[in-house]
Amino acid sequence: MSGRGPSGLRLTVIGAAAAWTRVPGAPSSSYLVEGPAGALLLDLGQGALGALAAIRDPLTLDAIAITHLHPDHHVDLVALRHLLRWGSLPPARLRLIAPAGIAARYDAFLGEGGFLGASFDVTEGETVEATLGGLALVSAPVTHGAGSRAYRIARADAPGAPGLVYSGDCGRWTDLVPLIRPGDTLLSEAFWGAEIADPGANHLTADEAAQAAVAGGAARLVLTHLAAETDPERALAAARSRFPGETLLARPGLVLPVD
Ligand SMILES: [Zn+2]
Repeated sequence: MSGRGPSGLRLTVIGAAAAWTRVPGAPSSSYLVEGPAGALLLDLGQGALGALAAIRDPLTLDAIAITHLHPDHHVDLVALRHLLRWGSLPPARLRLIAPAGIAARYDAFLGEGGFLGASFDVTEGETVEATLGGLALVSAPVTHGAGSRAYRIARADAPGAPGLVYSGDCGRWTDLVPLIRPGDTLLSEAFWGAEIADPGANHLTADEAAQAAVAGGAARLVLTHLAAETDPERALAAARSRFPGETLLARPGLVLPVD
């Protein structure tokens, strides 16, 4: 496993698929961010729990932060709730940070009141500013679904060090710029890749993700959440023609020091 860079942060891609996949072994959105004193998980889409557990015991997470309420970003919370409740003795709990309304949605889905609250300490709200496991987590609203936000994570004890900005799903690249600090790694969705975007879907092209990276002064751009029908290499080429920094594609198991 790669070490951590000077910032002390390490990103591991657990799942990078969009809302569906056409191949096995392609979990949806989930990203592990580890620091010297703790770890946060960003999103937990379908198929991500097993992929996470192969890399790090989920019980050791300081918190899970969800970007928005579309299921491909959190639906494995069902499986994780069962793991916490029935796969751990004594039952374990985790902190869960998510947009308003997530607990009610799971209650309706599962037909069981208090489903998430039985095993998660749930914080619902529109904005996030918290320090967890030595990591500073902040959010900014983005144009997508109700309550959608992007996150930035940096070391709480090294506020000037590079951090990671994760777009979640985002329909307007300018929404990401206020979160990005010079030298950051931008992990951005590029659902449309190099294809023609349908504006009604509120997703980015690879070129738009690159525009955010340029405008924010990011040092690195990681493209993720590409639709299964797009050509990843064309998406990569489109981003590289706009953004001069290191640019790569997310894939499960990719490990990057954030520096
Ligand atoms: Zn979405």
